[in-house]
Amino acid sequence: MSDKKKDTDWTVAEIEAAVDAYLKMFELERIGQKFNKTHENRVLRASALHNRTEGSVEFRMQNISAVLLRMHREYIKGYKPARNVGSNVEPAIRAVLIAKGVTLGDPTVATADEEALEQRALALEKLPLEDEPAGIVKPKRAPAQSTAFIRDPKVRAWVRQKAKGICEGCGEPAPFTKNDSPYLEVHHVKHLANKGSDRISNAVALCPNCHRRCHHSNDSKEFTESLYDRVKRLKREPLNRKTM
Ligand SMILES: [Zn+2]
Ligand SMILES: [Zn+2]
Repeated sequence: MSDKKKDTDWTVAEIEAAVDAYLKMFELERIGQKFNKTHENRVLRASALHNRTEGSVEFRMQNISAVLLRMHREYIKGYKPARNVGSNVEPAIRAVLIAKGVTLGDPTVATADEEALEQRALALEKLPLEDEPAGIVKPKRAPAQSTAFIRDPKVRAWVRQKAKGICEGCGEPAPFTKNDSPYLEVHHVKHLANKGSDRISNAVALCPNCHRRCHHSNDSKEFTESLYDRVKRLKREPLNRKTM
């Protein structure tokens, strides 16, 4: 296997072959047809990617998911976006995707995918968000994964931007940074699972401690009550009744 080239030396032709195979599988997934990742991997290694290992091809597919995610596009769920995409590989993949007609997506589009939501919110937080986002009054569950709700990245971005790195629960600065930004989690005061809305009047930016406290502490009820007093934009939402 020593003649296998290093992963960094992928040629444009190789990246194109990987992107082609990826987009073909993506289309099959979109129309609900089955495909076999292992088979597609093997086919690629029998042709354009004969210099590559199975693991290397798999990793490249995860790179493509990561680039699509950052372009605010959907991606194949079976290829979990890679954490690290080489700084020279990312522009190459992006260029090939654009050449194949994949355009930059809109980061304001609501999504149930946590990673996509976070990427979109991070992109929006870099902009000055003056207008309060309308959010979603009745967030729906995503059709495929019944646990996740479709949420508005503008709400997450706005709430975190307003918090300016200070936890709205305890008033302390975020305990650490992530991607050079203070790490705060956006919590829905009335939980989405209890039919809470995805609006800034029901969302707060909390440090991990305060967030856990809301969900798991003995005084979670009292602590949640204190949030309504402390954060003026919060509005109590009606208890679950069969009303509008
Ligand atoms: Zn806190
Ligand atoms: Zn929460």
